[in-house]
Amino acid sequence: MTGEELSVLYVGGLGRSGSTLIDRVLGQTPGVCSVGELVFLWDRALSANELCGCGDPFDECPFWKEVGVVAFGGWDRIDPRAIQAWQRRVDRNRYVPSMLVPPLAPSYRRRLEPYAEAVGRIYKAIAEVTGARVIVDSSKHASTAAMLRHVPGIRPRIVQLFRDPHGVAWSWSKTVERPDATDGVSLMARVGPARIAARWQGYNALLALVRSPGAALRYEDFVAHPEPATRRLLALVGLEPEALPQFVGPRTVRLDVDHTVAGNPLRFRTGDIEIRADEEWRRRMPASRRALVSALSFPSTAIYGYPR
Ligand SMILES: [Zn+2]
Repeated sequence: MTGEELSVLYVGGLGRSGSTLIDRVLGQTPGVCSVGELVFLWDRALSANELCGCGDPFDECPFWKEVGVVAFGGWDRIDPRAIQAWQRRVDRNRYVPSMLVPPLAPSYRRRLEPYAEAVGRIYKAIAEVTGARVIVDSSKHASTAAMLRHVPGIRPRIVQLFRDPHGVAWSWSKTVERPDATDGVSLMARVGPARIAARWQGYNALLALVRSPGAALRYEDFVAHPEPATRRLLALVGLEPEALPQFVGPRTVRLDVDHTVAGNPLRFRTGDIEIRADEEWRRRMPASRRALVSALSFPSTAIYGYPR
């Protein structure tokens, strides 16, 4: 970093909306570093020692080792479980309104400050280690997005990513392997369509409050026109590169290794991948389940441009 302000381009949205793909496409831009879902650093990375996106167990990844040294003089100088406990006390959806409308209540501020300071150190260390002036964080949660306003030394830009709730609900109903743990493959959580439709409404209502101006993005628009959508997101953090080297074809992106903390299994992929809409739900989702999701996510779906 050269004294320029450090931007954090944060991707918010409900899981299974394409955030890992978008995070990684952005992360291949020169001067931009993708770290996946940083909200899980204390838990899945530092405590459970899950795999980094590079494939190494977290404690063996040279990138994160260096970040730990720059941020704290080494990860062994901090207690990740204690910091995770701070996180649980402040990074909650119920605090979003107070985070958005300061002044903070003194008791909440006292709890928030040490946690926000630790997060700020991580971002600054990532920028120092990589030379990036933009960090992409796809932690997704609305409360984490709101909290970024109180993290010292960064300029957050919050993207609200949303996808047709039928596609989201279909994806949450499937059995997906999760290769992140060091001790073998487990399964990603499965959640029923009614709960997903309700979550879809709740997440999007909160994210609409915290997102930056002009930063709403439909998954379907991204996959239809990935390069212009990527440019629009980069413009939010003042980047207007002439060429985007990751686009080796209009719909093909070349992915290098990213040191992501968490995300869907796409975070481990490298090489060329074709971007295409995942519309399996249109063929395979039973009509009754579709109707349930339609009913429970209306009228928000109309607001977000999804016909009933
Ligand atoms: Zn790594």
